[in-house]
Amino acid sequence: MTLLKVEDLTIAFKSRQGVVKAVDHLSLELEQGSSLGIVGESGSGKSVTSLSIMGLLQNANADITGNIVLDGVDLLRLSQKDMRKIRGKSVSMIFQEPMTSLNPLHTCGKQIMEPILIHQKDVSKQDARNMAMEMLRLVGIPSPEQRFHEYPHQMSGGMRQRIMIAIALACHTKLLIADEPTTALDVTIQAQILDLMTSLKKKRNLSIIMITHDLGVVKEMCEKVVVMYTGQIVEKSPTELVFTDPLHPYTQGLLNAIPKISNKVDRLEAIEGTVPDALNMPSGCSFHPRCKYATEKCKLEAPPLFKQEDGREVRCFIYDVTKEVDDVHATK
Ligand code: SF4
Repeated sequence: MTLLKVEDLTIAFKSRQGVVKAVDHLSLELEQGSSLGIVGESGSGKSVTSLSIMGLLQNANADITGNIVLDGVDLLRLSQKDMRKIRGKSVSMIFQEPMTSLNPLHTCGKQIMEPILIHQKDVSKQDARNMAMEMLRLVGIPSPEQRFHEYPHQMSGGMRQRIMIAIALACHTKLLIADEPTTALDVTIQAQILDLMTSLKKKRNLSIIMITHDLGVVKEMCEKVVVMYTGQIVEKSPTELVFTDPLHPYTQGLLNAIPKISNKVDRLEAIEGTVPDALNMPSGCSFHPRCKYATEKCKLEAPPLFKQEDGREVRCFIYDVTKEVDDVHATK
């Protein structure tokens, strides 16, 4: 069953220098109980997309068009008041650095109780306390009776992220958006948090959107992936195929930039150039200044997403399925 359907989402910000299109005609779907990775460099639009699903851009001078339908409700048509009823109940978000999201003045237990008391009006304080304690156990906090009364600064980074997950899931949310949830953590703790999220996904039939620049995290966690560049999806694919047969030159570049233990070559292959200035986008394909396959056509025309026979979608003229097959292989 489809839980989330984003259709033709476009988000533009007005600034003194001009209008910046942060997200450009983005469409994606997420099934109940499945996980989707959104990958891209800084400025690709991945975090702005997630903030719009959370309804957190309405006051940010953003011009938003399209549809974001969660569980049959179009979130972009809701008032701020109605969106507050959905946020924390049907959709929740965790961020990279929990210390900036947790309230340093309240105990962790109280912060887990808060969304329960806000969204479940018929629950007593004592019941909310019991439910919060249960959440501490569920996310693997040791000695939950003691930790319930502790403050965020008394916990390690990994424990704080577990508390954030407990708060996010306290009201049995259907969709969890995780924005770089492990980037600030040590590698061993990263693996524990990813394991925790995978087990919670199974236990609660949870849908997860993982926003990350780290393809390793996507490989670990997600069934499908979209790769974003300059506000557009450039590749949509099952995760496995992105690693075995990446299509878009940008996706190929991201994979080549990952260090490999067996790699005997001293230098990593970086993607040449930098992400273009959002106020001064190149003509045609926005990746053409960095693409080794760019042609004159790429400089003049913007490619649409081309659907492939296996269902994958890729924004690159090389994969224009109307071309002769031999021609495609020759260019690839
Ligand atoms: Fe490269 Fe052209 Fe494909 Fe863009 S459309 S990614 S420039 S080959």
